[in-house]
This record gives sequence, structure tokens and C-alpha cells, in this order.
Amino acid sequence: MIATGRSSRGTVARFTGALLAVAVILGMAGSPASATNFGSTGTPGTDGITNGVWFTPDRFWNVGLMSLEPDRNLPALRASVEDDYNVTDLDAFAITGSCAAASHDACVFDTPYGRNGVNGWNACAGTVSGSHPNQTCSLSYVRLNQTYTWDVNNLACHELGHAVGLRHSTETSSCMFAAASPATITTTHDRGHLNTRY
Ligand SMILES: [Zn+2]
Repeated sequence: MIATGRSSRGTVARFTGALLAVAVILGMAGSPASATNFGSTGTPGTDGITNGVWFTPDRFWNVGLMSLEPDRNLPALRASVEDDYNVTDLDAFAITGSCAAASHDACVFDTPYGRNGVNGWNACAGTVSGSHPNQTCSLSYVRLNQTYTWDVNNLACHELGHAVGLRHSTETSSCMFAAASPATITTTHDRGHLNTRY
């Protein structure tokens, strides 16, 4: 998740969203993310901005790019799948035009979701197995909120990271650093986590 008002340390200083969203973000910020920035957290479900971080079930990661804005968001999402994630031991594939639980591990949507205080978030729309911090989700929904203006290269990399187990990072050079002046790529550190898992 990236809140619309972001502070420099991953805490919530200028967040303007709903009380529910504040609780979700505080819960994530309170987890021991800074040491490893890797591991599942959050509540499954797609109501509102219910969100979190989950592992995808295996190294074959099929990402559906759903009716994304074609000139900006679609190319950025495809580039992130290919350049940030398919360079790891994940076999990451970008698929356009469909989203089905039987054939996809994650699906990305961009829609004006309204002034809910978040630019983007990752929801578990499928079934989970295991328990935190090793819980997997069979189908992630990555949401990009077109109500707000954001750097799509950063948001794509960031929310996709939450769909494979990356939490917020303290590395300012990582797209998982949830703060202003957003980075647009995963780091060697991030990729090391993914290579260990997958
Ligand atoms: Zn986030």
C-alpha cells in the first residue's frame, strides 16, 4: 500500500484516509519489516482497502494486466513485471486481457476508487494457506487508484512487490520504500529475498 500522504520513515504522518485505512497501515508499520522487509501480513478479502502482503504460491507468477490505461499504466506494469520481477528466480509473466483464478496469480486493476487515502494497495482475492508471516494467497488483486496522481513506475513496482512477499523497506533506493521521491526498481536486497523464497 502507498498512502496518499507519505512520510519519510514509513510511518503515518500525513495520511488523510479513513479510520479503517489508518488501522491497516499502522498494523503494517508496526510489524518487524525493517529488518527483512519480507513476509506475509494482513487480512484476506477485497472489501474497501483491505490489504496486505502475501507470498504467491510458487515461482510461476502469472500477472494479469486488466484493462489498464494503455499509454501509461499498462506499459509501466508490464515493464515492472519483466524488469523488476522476472529478473529474479520468479518466472514472472505479464498477461493482458483476462483474469481468472485458474490461470492467474495476480491481477492488476486501475480504477477511480475515490478519495480513500491510498494510491494503491494489494488485496488477497483468493484462498490463503499457512499462517503469517509465511502465508500464501492464491490470487492477488493489485489496485491502482486513479482518483489520485502518482508515479506509475513506482506504484507498479511497489504493489507488485506486496503480491510476492515484499514489505516496506528502509532502503531509499527501493520501490518498497513507501515515501516521497519514490524509487522505481527493486534492489539487490529485495531480489535476494525473492530468490531465497522462490
Ligand atoms: Zn506498501
